[in-house]
Amino acid sequence: MEKWPSWFKASVSKTDIWENCIEGSNPSFSGRVNMIKEILAVYPGSFDPPTNGHLDIVSRASCLFPKMIVAITENMSKKHIFSLDKRIDLFRKITKNLDNVKVMSFSGLLVNYLEKINSFVLIRGLRALSDFEYEFQMALMNRKLNKKIETIFLMTDQDYMFISSNMIKEIAILGGNIADFVPDCVEKELKKYVVGLSQETYAK
Ligand code: ADP
Repeated sequence: MEKWPSWFKASVSKTDIWENCIEGSNPSFSGRVNMIKEILAVYPGSFDPPTNGHLDIVSRASCLFPKMIVAITENMSKKHIFSLDKRIDLFRKITKNLDNVKVMSFSGLLVNYLEKINSFVLIRGLRALSDFEYEFQMALMNRKLNKKIETIFLMTDQDYMFISSNMIKEIAILGGNIADFVPDCVEKELKKYVVGLSQETYAK
């Protein structure tokens, strides 16, 4: 059984591969290295609001890929508390130290957006078994729509596995402390949102 991909020649030692990659002396190796240098990975989501779990995924992915876009969508099936502009602003603030990360919005079909910006790598985070079924279906559907697209899953850090935007919103609305789960700027915005909500209730 063929153990290695066809581009891998068993006669080449690991050191040769590494040197070839670095020096780019072998066209097939340098081709692959150049390809990796060019990869633009996209981390899509609604991020309402961004949490420490999202930040962990984007930080780790930004170490794996040379360029990344966090693509924030207006997800029609979800009711958002923060506007698209606010979510973009918050995500820009929390990723300001990640030089290779850009935060943008997109609308319409994700695969069309990827085609437009010439990307074929999607990043998604996986927390627990409960994420798996939905993510699996999405990844297969995206691949069916455009077979060039690969979805890469990063496993959540165990510190963040119980964090979800929905749960954070609920805790904030019920007056709980969310400082450990979201960056400072997000905590401030959520507090403002909760104050606004209670003023609305009293005004009624
Ligand atoms: P959606 O894309 O369904 O609107 P989100 O915007 O909340 O969902 O999340 C975007 C991506 O981040 C998804 O892949 C989701 O599984 C992942 N994610 C959300 N919370 C966490 C977390 N705490 N740890 C790791 N990944 C997460």
